[in-house]
Amino acid sequence: MLIGQGDPIWIHMKTLSLIVPVYNEEETLPFTHERLVALSKAPGMSVRLQIVYVDDGSKDGGPMILERLALAVSERVEIRVVHFARNFGHSAAVTAGLAESTGDMIGIIDADLQDPPELIPEMVALIEQGWDVVYGQRTARRGETIFKRFTAWSFYRILDVLTGVKIPRDTGDFRVITREVRDALLECHDQEPFLRGLVAWVGFQQKALPYVRDARRYGITKYPFRKMLRFASNAVLSFSSAPLRVAIHLGVVGLVLSLLIGAWALWTKLSGRAVSGWTSMLDGMLVGQSFILLCIGFIGSYTSRIYTQVQGRPRYIVRQRKDWPNR
Ligand code: UDP
Ligand code: MG
Repeated sequence: MLIGQGDPIWIHMKTLSLIVPVYNEEETLPFTHERLVALSKAPGMSVRLQIVYVDDGSKDGGPMILERLALAVSERVEIRVVHFARNFGHSAAVTAGLAESTGDMIGIIDADLQDPPELIPEMVALIEQGWDVVYGQRTARRGETIFKRFTAWSFYRILDVLTGVKIPRDTGDFRVITREVRDALLECHDQEPFLRGLVAWVGFQQKALPYVRDARRYGITKYPFRKMLRFASNAVLSFSSAPLRVAIHLGVVGLVLSLLIGAWALWTKLSGRAVSGWTSMLDGMLVGQSFILLCIGFIGSYTSRIYTQVQGRPRYIVRQRKDWPNR
């Protein structure tokens, strides 16, 4: 690239876009913004910054705070704020962020500062060494309940067993990726994308960077138990058809059992001892019926995904997009 006379040197640097999904985070935003903007001057960071805030239909003062923060930008930092028409969920917000990022590398970080922005220069350095994906891997999670830690721990292990794709354990969406990986991700048209799974699935050279996940300082988690369950079932349904095959396994077990029980019933009959009672029959029927319902449930889950995928609605709707170019 030709360096024009009189241009500040940073004009010619590569750009790092940082995607920040935001849903009702008014208390945290000023702190988040300050720490993200500070990255543009962090030692060893020779990149320009584009911060892409995706406001996922916040109902608090967050959208106004974002506009106010964006007005006071410093050099080397460009801000884009995308407002959704309503709350479409975290994965839709990150997908929109990917589409709206114009940088040569793209970082994803939550607005609540649980993932330390100060790790990003190290991630960028690894990308510059040739890695395509550098993802944060939590070695510890501060300030989260035993229940949350246990569910997260079991989630990654169950996913490992059920899915063919090697999804790294204990990772979130905190990562930096190259533009090529971002393009590959945008080629995936899942209605409800399970992003960490997709990043593992697209391949490329990936590197883990261990870190300690902080506690949330302000506000509360936007992932209550109900949303966590939905998130986990989406992950399994996106990457595994194992539940659909459960019916076959149950069927085989059921067949073997019924042959054994049938043979025993015949033998007792022939040897003159009457089969007494209906308890065993009733138990068998109840168990059989619940197996059938379970399998219908699994089939239903996949059918409902086919239904939403076939409807082909947009994954999110942007109400407004605003840019504050760097000066
Ligand atoms: N978030 C979002 N839309 C939602 C829920 C959450 O954009 O519907 C954002 C939220 O503002 C935060 C990130 O996604 O920046 C992660 O959410 P949260 O911290 O509540 O999840 P947790 O860390 O508890 O799993
Ligand atoms: Mg959080």
